[in-house]
Amino acid sequence: MNIVLFGPPGAGKGTQAKELAKHYTIPHISTGDILRANVRDGTTLGIKAKEYMDKGELVPDEVLIGIIRDRLQQPDCKSGYMLDGYPRTIPQAEALKEILATISKPLDVVLNIEVPDKELIGRLSGRRMCSCGESYHMMFNPPLKQGICDACGGKLYQRDDDKEEVVRQRLEVYTAKTKPLIDYYSNMGILVNIDGTGSVEDVFRQICDVLDSHKK
Ligand SMILES: [Zn+2]
Repeated sequence: MNIVLFGPPGAGKGTQAKELAKHYTIPHISTGDILRANVRDGTTLGIKAKEYMDKGELVPDEVLIGIIRDRLQQPDCKSGYMLDGYPRTIPQAEALKEILATISKPLDVVLNIEVPDKELIGRLSGRRMCSCGESYHMMFNPPLKQGICDACGGKLYQRDDDKEEVVRQRLEVYTAKTKPLIDYYSNMGILVNIDGTGSVEDVFRQICDVLDSHKK
């Protein structure tokens, strides 16, 4: 079961990835995480990546793909993997395709969790934080007293990232960046759209139905 996972901010991709990894016993591979792990462990690729990160530059594709190739050859990827956060561009998708062919782990399915922008904006812009670490949602998980933290009585605030204009812009950037990849995998015939508007359980069940029907 070799999977790539797409989904806009607020679609619950992280939660689904965690549940899927458990259910199918395949690793959830987030490029950000493995990049940090390689840097921390001081691997050859990690040292190379750190040179760019220290300069505030993006890690080049050839370094990134090397890290992913190594990761996918670890024993825990024997019965599959779930890539999250990669690829982000068509050249990365092309490079990935080549690597996967050489290590005989081609993609089975690309999952695209879809949620209308309007709902995402509601989900993300309703979030409120407290400096004590608690977080709330005005609709789904409101505090007992409006604007006040249940745990410590502190004043709740909204992260700049969660402000409606910023959320709107994040979603626009996501759509513009992801659209070509969605088209690319759709043309390859391996893209499956998932309706992400239901409950976490609903969405999980949908994804499992898709994956189970792909199992050989
Ligand atoms: Zn608090």
